[in-house]
Amino acid sequence: MTSSKQLFTPIKIGHLTLPNRFIMGSMHTGLDHSDDPFGRLAAFYKERADGGVSLIVTGGVSPNEEGLISPGAMMLTNAEHVEQYKFITDTVHKANSNILMQILHAGRYAKHENLVAPSAIRSPINPFVPKEMSDAEIMQTIDDFVNCAQLAQQAGFDGIELLGSEGYFLNEFTAPRTNHRSDQWGGSFENRSRLPLDIVRSTRKALGENFIIQYRMSVLELVEDGWNIDEAQQFAIALESAGIDIINTGIGWHEAAIPTIAMQVPRGAFAWATAKIKQVVNIPVAAANRINTVEVAEKIIDNNEADMVYLSRPFLADADFVNKAKNQQFDEINTCIACNQSCLDHIFAGKIASCLVNPRACHETLYPAINTSTSAQKIAVIGAGAAGLSFSIEAAKAGHSVTLYESASTIGGQLLYAHLVPGKEEFDELLRYFAVMLDKYGVSVKLNCTADANQLQSEQYDVIVLSSGIKPRQLGISGINHASVLNYQEAFNQPNKIGQKVLILGAGGIGFDMAEFITHNHSNKDPITEYNDSWGIDPEGKKPGALLGKTVGNKQIRDVTLMQRKSGKFGRSLGKTTGWIHQAELHKRGVKLLGDLEYIKIDDAGLHIEREGEIRVIPADTIIICAGQEPCDELADSISTLAPKVIHIGGVKEVRELDAAQAIRDGVRLAYKLSN
Ligand code: NAP
Ligand code: SF4
Repeated sequence: MTSSKQLFTPIKIGHLTLPNRFIMGSMHTGLDHSDDPFGRLAAFYKERADGGVSLIVTGGVSPNEEGLISPGAMMLTNAEHVEQYKFITDTVHKANSNILMQILHAGRYAKHENLVAPSAIRSPINPFVPKEMSDAEIMQTIDDFVNCAQLAQQAGFDGIELLGSEGYFLNEFTAPRTNHRSDQWGGSFENRSRLPLDIVRSTRKALGENFIIQYRMSVLELVEDGWNIDEAQQFAIALESAGIDIINTGIGWHEAAIPTIAMQVPRGAFAWATAKIKQVVNIPVAAANRINTVEVAEKIIDNNEADMVYLSRPFLADADFVNKAKNQQFDEINTCIACNQSCLDHIFAGKIASCLVNPRACHETLYPAINTSTSAQKIAVIGAGAAGLSFSIEAAKAGHSVTLYESASTIGGQLLYAHLVPGKEEFDELLRYFAVMLDKYGVSVKLNCTADANQLQSEQYDVIVLSSGIKPRQLGISGINHASVLNYQEAFNQPNKIGQKVLILGAGGIGFDMAEFITHNHSNKDPITEYNDSWGIDPEGKKPGALLGKTVGNKQIRDVTLMQRKSGKFGRSLGKTTGWIHQAELHKRGVKLLGDLEYIKIDDAGLHIEREGEIRVIPADTIIICAGQEPCDELADSISTLAPKVIHIGGVKEVRELDAAQAIRDGVRLAYKLSN
């Protein structure tokens, strides 16, 4: 039973006493590239500070040109820039919170040509080869870190976080994988640790005791030639002696072939590793990665695995996470579902981050807290999928009278299929949040109710919003009505109809989801053991990089082929940061991929295709169609004149490239438009 008591027991970090155990973690938001970086960042942090978080860590700020993660990213090297940062710290302090500036030197992950590293070894995720640093350049870089910290202090920051994990610069020095030097900065553990420890000591000396130094250290590297837990513990002890105030625990390098923050990773999966660091030091230790609910956070603190919890994306999803936890409004928290779709995938596409479940995130100045509308309107919403739900809630919040019609017996639309996919159970949280908010804001929900024109006319609505969504695309292949054929909705709803030999036509997001759904081998293992086994993680962390070198499980339970007509790589439409995980999962389960073909017909013999100029028949028990969607617009004509405004949102408006993020954003945007 969640009580959240421990999470609100004050804690002393260096010179600060914090009222709760939540740290808002560092995030790349992309706002540094916006037209008003400091104004928008201040607004973003202010909402989270108002929401009760006691310590905020900024996105990464480089201590010099070479360390920039990409051209134009944040850098603090010069007293002229202090005032801009001061605007952020003043805003956060006025909201009674505290803020650390993260110093991020990107090392060999920098996306520009002037990158540097301990050794000239290119990262597999970066086309640029780093220059090996000279002794003098290393000494200069230590000074740059100290200078950056001094400027941060002048700008009013309560301290800094040194990013020493995920395979960035400081981590590159500590890891044998990236540090092949034979001078005083490489070789032995002592030599590899020298640079980060020198930075800590010099910073402490220059800045005195009343300035927090938080170090985000790498605990599990999850790459070959990474260190093991014994070296990580040794390093934690050395950091404490060098004068840091708090350790934050990083898991996995960015180039690791193991997911560490995606939905497929169980909640709290790495608290055991953080606990091993906590065992050897006396300063506070924070746990991170996949902590997205109060319950998980509380369990970690109660079990004494960490002193604080470091949550990043959950604060994109809900700025008021901490206050809601304090007030025991657990069901009202908009939970981060770890999809990465609107946060990290946006960053990788060079866009400003946001959040699938909360499109206001990082757009606070563009969508200020919604006004209570001066002229409340009577609104009908047809369809309780993602777009209809998000619109209904935001419109009701603004004071409109909203009636939501849904022909099914439950809300959710397409989201109901997402939550059935193994590893996507987090979508349950979104459905729970929507249900609680509909109730809270008094939306009248009519389930099992197909809105008809007469009824809508008699109610005299001011606005009718059509959010009836999409339906599976009907293919024109000969034999499409054969008994072996199911569309994806039928397959999700009636899995007992799916045979042993299965062909999936269409390899977009839903084709991949379907392949995972029908090949999942349900086991009785607890989720963290299953995850460790499946990805080859040493649960004791004793092996180099905590890698076992083998995986366990993934027995093939069906013969499945995923098909697409186009040639080339499968999964191109999947998310940049999660697509590779889906691909790896299917590979482990023996799913075959077949592309560059035409579908000819379906009959008792199976699916007939043309490929490389030849006609072939592929036998199949079941053929599942995952070939995209069409708008579900049957009602569109009959309702078009039934209210002064009839507006389409979500899939019924634009089916191309529609996903849950776009649908929710559409709903929220329309509510703003009608209310401001
Ligand atoms: P989709 O991504 O558009 O994929 C449809 C697939 O069907 C394509 O592989 C396409 O490949 C094939 N196709 C299209 N028209 C066809 C036709 N006339 N005949 C035969 N095959 C055809 O659609 P979706 O999979 O339904 O996904 C819908 C939306 O939800 C997308 O925006 C998707 O990104 C999102 N989503 C994402 C995820 C995820 O990222 N994990 C999961 C679920 C949904 P060929 O034309 O080459 O055959
Ligand atoms: Fe979490 Fe997804 Fe929102 Fe990112 S986009 S913060 S992963 S819910």
